[in-house]
Amino acid sequence: MTTLLMTHLDCVAHEPGHGHPEAPARLSAVLAALEDPQFRGLVRHDAPIGNQADVARVHGQSFVSAVLAAVPRTGHAALDADTILSPGSGTAALRAVGAVTAAVDAVASGRASNAFCAVRPPGHHAEPAHAMGFCVFNSIAIAARHAQAVHGLERVAIVDFDVHHGNGTQAVAENDPTLFFASSHQYPLYPGTGAAGETGLGNVVNAPLPAGADGAIFRRAFETKILPALDAFAPELLLVSAGFDAHRADPLAGLELEEADFAWVTSRLIEAARQHCRGKLVSVLEGGYDLRALAGSAAAHVSALMDEN
Ligand SMILES: [Zn+2]
Repeated sequence: MTTLLMTHLDCVAHEPGHGHPEAPARLSAVLAALEDPQFRGLVRHDAPIGNQADVARVHGQSFVSAVLAAVPRTGHAALDADTILSPGSGTAALRAVGAVTAAVDAVASGRASNAFCAVRPPGHHAEPAHAMGFCVFNSIAIAARHAQAVHGLERVAIVDFDVHHGNGTQAVAENDPTLFFASSHQYPLYPGTGAAGETGLGNVVNAPLPAGADGAIFRRAFETKILPALDAFAPELLLVSAGFDAHRADPLAGLELEEADFAWVTSRLIEAARQHCRGKLVSVLEGGYDLRALAGSAAAHVSALMDEN
């Protein structure tokens, strides 16, 4: 059994503009780190173009059409103050969707143990009717709906350890008892949601962390809140929004995590997946804005995924 790496160079061609933190160099840095000999066992696939019908399960076809129509032929077009499209952005966003849906297909059918989707733009802030926070389509929520619609899974869990709250994913999950959503994040911080009292139907777990929280506090939040709730939900598939901007070097936030903390949380999530769903786990890159910390943290994450094979 194998760990799959799903990516596509089209995801480098989404260019939100000079000085924008969600830069093409992020993905290049992650892919360069995964060229290390320790990753030679990864099975590498080019992500297909995602189906608009998959996107429409979360966002509706009129939103999908409006976003794709907004992609400029030259220059830039803004979907919100910090979500900027370039000529390559529509294809990049659809490759991100294609990566997660193809990864779900491979893991659900047993062709791979687990998968990491190295894609951009990220997705977890995108709400059903709003692109925001660098995010165009909510890839992880689309993956969950794809798993349910195409593979007949009944209970899909999404765990999000990006430093920002996954408001878009929560918006999809909070009224649907077939989904579980748990997030650790700095709070208060953009986008402002993610208070501990936001619990959906009892299927949403928010673990807000104060600025300055380190790996010990992060691990305690997982041990005491997120992992027990995940166990109680007993998912048939575990999806992970893997943002690495809780690293202490990240310029956009103020948590104090290190590479070892990302390896730890990955191992714990794999344990949960092994216990409940034969290890079926699909992870997708969200944030992470210090290139060196991002590359090292993503490498630690993928290395932990591969350890389980
Ligand atoms: Zn983030």
